[in-house]
Amino acid sequence: MLGGKWLPDIARIVSRRIKWWALWGLIGTMLLLVADGQFRTLGHGALGLFAGVCFVALCGLLTHRMWPGRGKLTLEELPDAQLATGAAQLVIGYALAQWLAGLWGEAAVVRYALVAAVLGFHRGLRLLGLSVLALLCEGLFRYATGQHTPSELLGSLLLLGLFIGLREAVFRGELLRQQIEHKRRVADAIDDLTRQAELFRLNLTETSLVATTTEWTEHGSRKTAEHVDRSEAERLILRSAVVMVRQNLDALVGLLRQALGLSTCAVLWQDSDDSQLQVVAASTDSPLPLLRQVPSSAGLLGTIKKTRTLVSLSSPKLAQLAYYDRPDSIAEHDAVRCAAALVVPLFEEGALCGALCVDRMVHDGEIAKPFAHHDEEALRAAVPIILRSIQSERVFRSIEQGRDASQSLAYASGLLSAALRTEEVAEQALAAVAKLCPFDFAALTEYDDKHRQHQILSVSGDPSLSASLKALRFADNEGLCSLVIRHQKVLPVGGILRDHGADPQVFDDHTRLRGYAWLMVLPLLLHNKPRGTLVIAGRGEPAVPERQALLRVLANQIAVSLDNARMYQAVEALATTDGLTGLYNRRTFQQRIDEMRERAHRQGRTLSLILCDIDHFKKINDTRGHLVGDEVLRQIGRLLGDTVRKVDVAARYGGEEFAILLEATELEGAQLLAERIRQEAEKLPLSSEKGPFHCTLSLGLATFPGDGRSTTELIAHADAALYAAKHQGRNRVVCYRNLQDGSALPAA
Ligand code: GH3
Ligand code: MG
Ligand code: MG
Repeated sequence: MLGGKWLPDIARIVSRRIKWWALWGLIGTMLLLVADGQFRTLGHGALGLFAGVCFVALCGLLTHRMWPGRGKLTLEELPDAQLATGAAQLVIGYALAQWLAGLWGEAAVVRYALVAAVLGFHRGLRLLGLSVLALLCEGLFRYATGQHTPSELLGSLLLLGLFIGLREAVFRGELLRQQIEHKRRVADAIDDLTRQAELFRLNLTETSLVATTTEWTEHGSRKTAEHVDRSEAERLILRSAVVMVRQNLDALVGLLRQALGLSTCAVLWQDSDDSQLQVVAASTDSPLPLLRQVPSSAGLLGTIKKTRTLVSLSSPKLAQLAYYDRPDSIAEHDAVRCAAALVVPLFEEGALCGALCVDRMVHDGEIAKPFAHHDEEALRAAVPIILRSIQSERVFRSIEQGRDASQSLAYASGLLSAALRTEEVAEQALAAVAKLCPFDFAALTEYDDKHRQHQILSVSGDPSLSASLKALRFADNEGLCSLVIRHQKVLPVGGILRDHGADPQVFDDHTRLRGYAWLMVLPLLLHNKPRGTLVIAGRGEPAVPERQALLRVLANQIAVSLDNARMYQAVEALATTDGLTGLYNRRTFQQRIDEMRERAHRQGRTLSLILCDIDHFKKINDTRGHLVGDEVLRQIGRLLGDTVRKVDVAARYGGEEFAILLEATELEGAQLLAERIRQEAEKLPLSSEKGPFHCTLSLGLATFPGDGRSTTELIAHADAALYAAKHQGRNRVVCYRNLQDGSALPAA
């Protein structure tokens, strides 16, 4: 069925490829001509014709003008076209070289230059292929000029090979240099932004957070993907804040310079060490180059540091304008001097934090124009704008941080609220803590007020410590957990281990936390009562104070979640178990038998059901009292519960009737178990006021699917077997199947 679909496809592929095959044919033919030395002997006319044909062919191939009804080169044809073009260029080049060699003697340099030029446009596999072709051309060229011995040929090929290799090495080297240079520039730009963020105090808390998370990864601690994303996002926000501040300041200084006819208008900001001011924004048309960092007590800056007021000078010495680099020598060269300079101090909360510096330069001979009163007013008016632009970015940052903190807390709370049982809450609690504050070790403990005992609910990190602590119980002691429960405060104070050498006692008397830089034990408070503790420790930098506050909130939320889980489990137990025996109740039995039958059906397995009934129980009640009867029910219940496996189900089915579901158990296995139960029950020592006594059980057994395919049928048949056991004299096991084949027929 090569019908309408395949043929056009093949035709399309052939027609698409055919021009490249034609070109490769041309290239091959020319190679043979080069090998034969044909081009040596060509006259000008023939060569001109040849060159013309080649040129038209190449242009046509590249633009597709030669192939009517086709557009430009398609993307999928591009590799073909590039390879074929490169090959054609090489071969045509070698043909020309051979012709030139015929006229003027061999010109190896021209060929090498040609090879270098052609290969320069290609990369990777194409470069490799074309290099091989260049070597082939060179070999054929040499062969045609009479070099026939292998050693001669090998020598010239090696030379060309060396040339190609060198060219590639130089090219790669240059590429690498440019990449390194580019990376360095990017890193410098980022450093610059980070430095300025510190300068404007945009990142007081977050730098420490970022540093902390970086540090911790180096220590191989668990750092979640969210944390990587979050610190990256924080860095981006920080950089964008710096960019915003800079854009605002740049626009402002540019505007002031234009409006007031200034030579330079610059905002200088105090560095962290007080002794330097950084030029954070500047607009200048002065021939003098500006410094990036200026000593804070140099020139007019020193004056405002002392006077703390605006300073305006006419014709100051250039040395007083400390923000210029080597002003005297350059000013002399350009014949400029300063006509007027003015410095406005910038204050934040009463402290000098920077300066707005402006000046007017004039060329020698020009008329000086000092600062007028309205100039001063305009510059004074700019001061609050400068301060506001930095302060508003700070506010923006803190809002972003606050939003991030509440998002983290909301996410962590989400994890907690999704957990219903105590084990789930305990596990999710540590996952939630990790979202707020990465740690190297964490544990959650619960405190039993009545017995003054602690129990570890979950641990995370530090595998050897975790293994020894799992489910550990310990009495109240002088460890940090006990102290935190007693004082209801976070310990140690500030979360820092004052004495790094000391290994603090946190849990029982034997366990010690070794080699941690910081530790926090937080109380889990519920209605102001401590329910347990959250222990977290790390080897890197301590968590920032904001995170500690969030952790305290989360700790209390963990307390609420644990309490909820306990209540949920209590309600669930009430609804699913029988109060007297602690076994499942009848309702749960009904649910479980449906589930288990369904599963057995799906997996093609068997499921056995044993119904048992205490013999003459009424008599026990009547003769020994109901309380004794209850005790008998309890004892039989315990016996059944202890006998079955975890996957099985033991339930109180009725007054003194019990049901046992045995997962994936054949009739024979179930029969053996039923017999064992019967024997154990018989031996069970029971006592009452009237002296010791024993009781016996009758058991009926049916197995899915042989004895019943539906649950109703299965229960009915197990009940029939039980009925038969009673009728046959009690204290025995009867299988429904034996009833069927007549081997255990009920007595008439
Ligand atoms: P059989 O051997 O035929 O089973 O005789 P039986 O006396 O055990 O059977 P019957 O069903 O007549 O009696 C069951 C008794 O179990 C009746 C009821 O008072 C008693 N019973 C049911 N629930 C409880 C309970 O929770 N506690 C006590 N003490 N007795 C219960
Ligand atoms: Mg009974
Ligand atoms: Mg009964």
